Amino acid sequence: MGRTVRDGLRLSAEQEQFVELAREFAAREIRPRGRAVDEADVESPLDVWEKAAALGLTSFMLPEKVGGGGVSLLTQVLVQEELCHGDIGIGNLVTSNGFFGAPVEQLGTPEQQERFLGPLGTDRPPLTAVAVTEPASGSDAASIRTSARREGDEYVLNGQKTWISNAPYAEMFVVFATVDPALRSRGVTAFVVPRSAPGLTVGPPLRKMGQRAIVNAEVFLDDVRVPVEDRLGAEGQGFSGLMRTFDASRVLIGAATTGLARAALDFATSYAAERVQFGVPISRHQAVAFRLADMATRIDTSHLLAVRAATLYDEGHAVTQEAAMAKLVGSENAMWCTHAAVQTLGGYGYSREYPVERWMRDAKLEEIEEGTSDIQRLIISRGLGAR
Ligand SMILES: Cc1cc2nc3c(=O)[nH]c(=O)nc-3n(C[C@H](O)[C@H](O)[C@H](O)COP(=O)(O)OP(=O)(O)OC[C@H]3O[C@@H](n4cnc5c(N)ncnc54)[C@H](O)[C@@H]3O)c2cc1C
Repeated sequence: MGRTVRDGLRLSAEQEQFVELAREFAAREIRPRGRAVDEADVESPLDVWEKAAALGLTSFMLPEKVGGGGVSLLTQVLVQEELCHGDIGIGNLVTSNGFFGAPVEQLGTPEQQERFLGPLGTDRPPLTAVAVTEPASGSDAASIRTSARREGDEYVLNGQKTWISNAPYAEMFVVFATVDPALRSRGVTAFVVPRSAPGLTVGPPLRKMGQRAIVNAEVFLDDVRVPVEDRLGAEGQGFSGLMRTFDASRVLIGAATTGLARAALDFATSYAAERVQFGVPISRHQAVAFRLADMATRIDTSHLLAVRAATLYDEGHAVTQEAAMAKLVGSENAMWCTHAAVQTLGGYGYSREYPVERWMRDAKLEEIEEGTSDIQRLIISRGLGAR
């Protein structure tokens, strides 16, 4: 392939180094594991996690003062894209502590950041999780029912969370609960809860369509006592902290899906150059060539939206709209591109011998988690003044 939109970015020496590290790690350690991890179904590749941690790839997004890399969101975007070019499920696993780190950074005191994020900046970091979703509360996160009742210097948490990524392995959870459900978003409060807390239990792994490198489960909170000093921010500040977390994490989904879509394009392009039908490589049939052209164009669109949102974020602007667009377009383009890759391989595209059917299953998740495509459209339309 000729020059891509990525070649138009002027990267700093530090960004070049991170991108090269991620690209090399993705090719050597991530891509070869994709199929086996998918077949294993409900088992995270912890050996890959450990190797990534030793290279700083699990902590580069955390603040420097806790042992992280302290890099910009733009650098995170570039790294995420490369890791997920290897495999989006494993790439998302490698950077998953960033999702825990964000609300701690947004809402936590310097002392809490040191205490909760310090262990994540070490050579052998624990896995962590963020628990918002409940069986009856998904898109409408302000409707959570998990309760936090104050008793002296403690809160008592009761409720049930579902779909929690990393739950079977996580040693710490950020749990979002409510001090009063009638207050809706103004009642939502965040707590850090260790896995060892009496009353916290994790259900069996939930079996799912794709992205099996991250294992999901329900989390039950039964009279879990949390000291006041483990509350992040004031009572009622949890929801705004969560929304600010999404402003960054949705941009990273835009980047992750760009990496996945690039993998699909690379694979389909090579295949189309080799596969001969009607006496010529199928890439010489215009329908196939145009499909590849559409994939390439969509990928660059996704990349540019993620880069725009990250650049504005790094400059200190509010990016709720731009982040929603990056996530919406990135995930829908990844779905389109992986579907196009399956089509380009014909029957072989449908075979588990090739990765494109798996990548199509992997892509679907990103139209759902951290706010479905409908919710992103809701956010974008509200920003236009349309209600
Ligand atoms: C693999 C996976 C990993 C996840 N990881 C985590 C995690 O780590 N932590 C966590 O807390 N959660 C996690 N989630 C939960 C995820 O964020 C939710 O599934 C998601 O927000 C959607 O909520 P829901 O599934 O309850 O769907 P619902 O909210 O019930 O939505 C169902 C449908 O209705 C549509 N809809 C709902 N409201 C509106 C509206 N106002 N306008 C238009 N359409 C609407 C939706 O777009 C969707 O199509 C994960 C989910 C999955 C599948």
